[in-house]
Amino acid sequence: MTAHDGQLAALVQGAPPLSGPLALYDQIRGLLVLTALPPVPDVYDLLWRYVRDEDHDLSLAVDTAITLGEFDLAQVAALRRAHCGDVGQQEVAALVEAAHDQAEALTLRIEAGRTDLADYGRAIADGGARLAAPLDAAGLAALLEQLGAATATMQAANARLESELAMAATEAKALSDKLGAAERAAITDQLTGMLNRRGTFEALARIQGECRGDTLPLAVAMIDIDHFKRFNDRFGHALGDEVLRFVARHVADRIAGKGGIVGRLGGEEFVAMLPGQDMGAAAAMIDRARAELASQIIRNTSDGSSMGRVSFSAGVAGDRADDSCDTLIERADRALYTAKRLGRDRVVPDRS
Ligand code: GH3
Ligand code: MG
Ligand code: MG
Repeated sequence: MTAHDGQLAALVQGAPPLSGPLALYDQIRGLLVLTALPPVPDVYDLLWRYVRDEDHDLSLAVDTAITLGEFDLAQVAALRRAHCGDVGQQEVAALVEAAHDQAEALTLRIEAGRTDLADYGRAIADGGARLAAPLDAAGLAALLEQLGAATATMQAANARLESELAMAATEAKALSDKLGAAERAAITDQLTGMLNRRGTFEALARIQGECRGDTLPLAVAMIDIDHFKRFNDRFGHALGDEVLRFVARHVADRIAGKGGIVGRLGGEEFVAMLPGQDMGAAAAMIDRARAELASQIIRNTSDGSSMGRVSFSAGVAGDRADDSCDTLIERADRALYTAKRLGRDRVVPDRS
């Protein structure tokens, strides 16, 4: 241990409990000690989501795993697959292996076809050589019979190859569908069907590049449901989930016509990406969606009972030349914070 490490340990031991965002770090540290999990990025990231209660289902699953004493690395990987869009290493490995096997089988089939073709070529060349020499009628008949047989063999081999190639094409399509589905699952939020956090940032980077390339404006809105905790406490988590789905769809439906896309960053926080819209137009669009949502009484689909109104607050920012995805989202997030501070159920454009 270095002198610096010693000082650090003394500082940590003697330090009062941390406050603010560092309190989250304190909680994560406590959980690492409790579970004896290593502080590697996947574990840390999962615990970060847990202490922030970003995804309530995930939080419940972590609680269960801790209670049962089953919170180990395998469980972390399983939870990440189920809640964070991680594609299982094994799943990808199996798909890659299947693709490899298929490529090998196809090579063998094509090799077999080549051999058939070479045999046929030899039969024809041999026939040609024999035709060059004088032939009597019986010899010619024998030669024609031999060439006919070679042709029939070749036709059969061709038909076999053709059906095998068709089969290989079907298999390749099934495999690429599976890979596509695994890729989609990795960027899709399971609850709402919208892009998940990873998918949102990937899409935003792509859209930002496209808009800049086409010299089009781009705006993003950070959207957060108001007093959602209260809603959960009053009506239960399952209905809370329904509302999350409903709000995500509500916003997505209202911006899809203009090429807008919604992603779920976690919990009850969404991002609306609005390519081609400047901040003013985007704020107006999101505000219409807000007003429409807030004016509705939400009803329980199972018995029609009223669950009151649900509103959201949003902050909108327009992309600037020197923005990264993070700085763009950050400015929208700050405007969202202002919207919350001003009383919620409103859309605030970024004024920085
Ligand atoms: P504010 O208006 O300040 O945003 O208040 P809030 O209650 O919406 O915000 P807060 O951050 O205090 O609470 C967010 C709540 O969202 C807490 C958590 O239980 C709930 N939540 C997060 N993810 C999910 C989920 O996947 N399903 C359900 N039903 N609730 C969730
Ligand atoms: Mg909220
Ligand atoms: Mg929130």
